Amino acid sequence: MNNSEFDVIQKYFTFPNTRNDVILAVGDDCACVTVPENRQLLITTDTLISGVHFPEDTSPEDIAYKSLMVNLSDLAAMGAKPAWVTLAISLADINDSWLQAFSSQFSSLLSRYNISLIGGDTTRGKLSITVQAMGLAESGKILRRDQAKTGDYVFVTANIGDAAVGLHVILNQLADQKLLPCVNRLNRPEARVDFASELTSYSRCAIDISDGLVADLGHIVKASCCGAKIMLADVPLSPAVRYYFEHYHKGSIDWSMVLTRGDDYELCFTVGRDDVSAVKALAQKHQLKVTCIGEITVPAELLFIDENDKPVNFSNTGFKHF
Ligand code: ADP
Ligand code: MG
Repeated sequence: MNNSEFDVIQKYFTFPNTRNDVILAVGDDCACVTVPENRQLLITTDTLISGVHFPEDTSPEDIAYKSLMVNLSDLAAMGAKPAWVTLAISLADINDSWLQAFSSQFSSLLSRYNISLIGGDTTRGKLSITVQAMGLAESGKILRRDQAKTGDYVFVTANIGDAAVGLHVILNQLADQKLLPCVNRLNRPEARVDFASELTSYSRCAIDISDGLVADLGHIVKASCCGAKIMLADVPLSPAVRYYFEHYHKGSIDWSMVLTRGDDYELCFTVGRDDVSAVKALAQKHQLKVTCIGEITVPAELLFIDENDKPVNFSNTGFKHF
């Protein structure tokens, strides 16, 4: 079959629309949507480049999953509900089985959240995927980096460090079934979208952990002009991560690996003392673990305290492109 750019768009990136706020989707020069009254529009974009953001042999399903999820994670970090996405994709060639696998996974994830793909761009080049996600929040009710208050507790969702171990497993070709959950967390992050949109009732401050907790909590304390004191002993680790350190690291936890490598896509958020029990109940409703790991402090420094009550210094804070 003669596959032009337009055939590719028609075949793989034109999905049935399920939202009545979409006036025009794929097919015209722009998409057109209606923003409901009393809602604000939140917009984010993230690019995933082959060999930079994922190993070159990553499956098309995993690439589709992750390229969408990292964007939904940014919306979750602000408490917004995803509504629409655009997809700009560069392909080295037209590989139908690759495109079919990518498209099916992308489409099924969109359906799960009732999101419409409303446009994009298709070009030839090294494999690269840029998703722009747009979400809606009740006006004024968003989670921001600059809203942490002294005395707030610092929480994280689920576990931290799985993706860092997962990447290590792939790069070092560790053949150990017990570490597969870490690889899965690297390839299939879960944006905490539903929890986050309700968290806006109890919190004003969150970030998603994409570059490691040290760097991302660093953004919160800087923007909020405060500090934070985090107890390493309280940072939640999965059984697979604990297993990794027991069997491959002489039983000692490499906190730099856990806290500075990133790709967790969990939320770090702050909660005033009066709202802690409501947040815990909300997490339970969403069957999501949340853990208090420390608190927001007046002195403008980010402290990580080890089991011996000593501060730990992380010189390498998070992945940097340049
Ligand atoms: P234009 O030349 O006007 O920029 P294009 O030829 O790039 O339009 O795209 C045609 C239509 O297909 C547009 O509506 C665009 O948003 C959509 N589109 C292009 N690539 C994609 C893609 N990968 N996913 C979804 N929609 C796409
Ligand atoms: Mg174009």
